[in-house]
Amino acid sequence: MGNYLKIFGMSKIVGIDLGTTNSLVATVDSGIPFVIADANGQRLTPSVVHFAAANSEAIVGHEANRVRLVKPAETVYSVKRFMGRRGAEISEEEKSVTFPVKADNAGAVTIPIHGKNYSPEEISAEILKKLKCDAENYFGEAVTRAVITVPAYFNDAQRNATKRAGELAGFTVERIVNEPTAAALAYGLDKLKEKSKIAVYDLGGGTFDLSILELNEGVFQVLSTNGNTRLGGDDLDRKIVERLKSLVVEAAGNSTSQLLHSSTLQARIREAAESAKIKLSTETEVEIALPFLTPDFSFSYKLTRTELENLTREIILRTRQHCLRALADAKLEARDLDQIILVGGQTRMPLVRKFVGELFGCAEFEEVRGGLRMGTEFHKAGGPQLNTSQNPDEAVALGAAIQAEILSGGFKNVLLLDVTPLSLGIETFGGLMNVLIPRNSTIPVKAGELFTTAMDAQREMLIHVLQGERERAKDNWTLGKFTLQFESAPRGVPRVGVQFEIDANGILHVLARDTKTGKEKIVEMKSAVDVDDSAVQKMVEESVEHAFDDLAARRWIEAKLKAQETLVATKNALTSCADEIEKDYAKKISAAARVVETALATESSDGSGDLNQLKASVLALDEITKPLADLLMDKAMEAMLRKRGLIQ
Ligand code: ADP
Ligand code: MG
Repeated sequence: MGNYLKIFGMSKIVGIDLGTTNSLVATVDSGIPFVIADANGQRLTPSVVHFAAANSEAIVGHEANRVRLVKPAETVYSVKRFMGRRGAEISEEEKSVTFPVKADNAGAVTIPIHGKNYSPEEISAEILKKLKCDAENYFGEAVTRAVITVPAYFNDAQRNATKRAGELAGFTVERIVNEPTAAALAYGLDKLKEKSKIAVYDLGGGTFDLSILELNEGVFQVLSTNGNTRLGGDDLDRKIVERLKSLVVEAAGNSTSQLLHSSTLQARIREAAESAKIKLSTETEVEIALPFLTPDFSFSYKLTRTELENLTREIILRTRQHCLRALADAKLEARDLDQIILVGGQTRMPLVRKFVGELFGCAEFEEVRGGLRMGTEFHKAGGPQLNTSQNPDEAVALGAAIQAEILSGGFKNVLLLDVTPLSLGIETFGGLMNVLIPRNSTIPVKAGELFTTAMDAQREMLIHVLQGERERAKDNWTLGKFTLQFESAPRGVPRVGVQFEIDANGILHVLARDTKTGKEKIVEMKSAVDVDDSAVQKMVEESVEHAFDDLAARRWIEAKLKAQETLVATKNALTSCADEIEKDYAKKISAAARVVETALATESSDGSGDLNQLKASVLALDEITKPLADLLMDKAMEAMLRKRGLIQ
């Protein structure tokens, strides 16, 4: 009998919603999830970071938001839009923020303040540190483990950046979870009947996501997801700002338009716009007052809910195509859904609720005010139910806390599954995409295939990892490249196994192994390509648009590879049987081979040629070389028998 020392009291894992606009930290106590408030009793921390001076500590949250008016150039907001993205991917519109953004083409985005270049991760880490501190004050002990959420469409680079931000803040990031999946957990939808289908409509400050989940044996599975990481409440604010600016110029004359470029004024107008928008969710009109815009001009305007709706309807309508696409990807119609849940502060806007209700066929909804229930629910017999029972601002954080509790063994029987937004594969000989993990595969996932060499004495294989829906490698995105060395061997002999594994955080690990020696390489893909949602959407659209050309290109490449192979085999056979065959026959074969070469030469710059001509010529060459093939076979047989001593 030995002495066992059991360690109890594993440290708490907190759930964090690291939002574009607001961030929250939540936990579960005795089965009840709740958001942890900070020292001032605030549950939402604006994702805003201010640096007062060089080397001074960052000011985070409400306080930073207040300073944002007077110190716009040293106050960073919406930094989530820059996470894990390269300079080249950032549009001019995105760069038009009130703080400086260095977005040089190939390099990472940096934010220069007080002579220091901050990365988006470092800024996010400041927000996370503040939340960590709030949680530690609440628990009275160190908190070092966290589950952090990201939009479903975040690519590898963006997820990695989020994880790094967590680590910079001193957390062990136990898991990166998709926001809609977390929200569904918070809405308690794991209690619905088996096979329930749920749409999560998340319109926050900077991102929009529509995800369709299915409940299977208490397990959530993401059937599909679609969205836009550049669509949210900020866009509505911008619309209102434009309107206000033109009204100001109208009232105060053109000379003010120059003044309006000042970042202090811009920030003031933006703040007024957002606060009016929020008020208009519960009121039908609001007075926007901007006293002393210039020393001798004060502005005020009465904005009505109707005008706000007219200004911003177009933005809300933009979410429609994403909803339809997600439905199509899940092979469902709106009426197949059981519930629609709303997530994100912007879904408090009545127009958004009305739009979602109508889009998903809850059109004749009847508002039921639940006695004990928080919020309201919309019912329609037969159609999906619009569930607004949870606080849309907090659902994601609460879900993250529930996921954290599951990870620490607190809750059982719930598992979260997510899907890949685009197909993943490697480039094979001839420049084709060989898919290993198809689009919309449930993660975590592992898949592999064996590959061989196309050339004699090849000593290495280039593993070119691709993401996308196109047939040709060059039309897809490169996630990374590496080479695996092996012993020289005739072509077709080496066996290289390539395995893709996407972990629970959505990060791709690529393994390549030479099966003979067992020599292997494992590379974690730090995706540097723009796999933001609009790019994903573009990729999918282009794959549909070019489906015909792509297929033609694939057929041509495959036929070309076969033709080249046949030509090499024919030449080798002619050499080795030179003594056994008649000159005339050899000439005929050479002529047929030249026809194949001519057909190959029809390849144009776009990478395809006359497929019929090529196929016919290869067929003819095959036909004419049959006797030669027989002869080769006989020779091989004879050689084998002789070797075994069966003939002299
Ligand atoms: P994120 O997930 O991007 O951090 P949130 O879910 O916190 O965003 O939503 C923030 C957005 O919601 C902001 O654009 C904010 O103006 C908007 N918002 C918050 N409350 C309301 C409201 N009552 N009515 C309309 N919009 C709101
Ligand atoms: Mg959010």
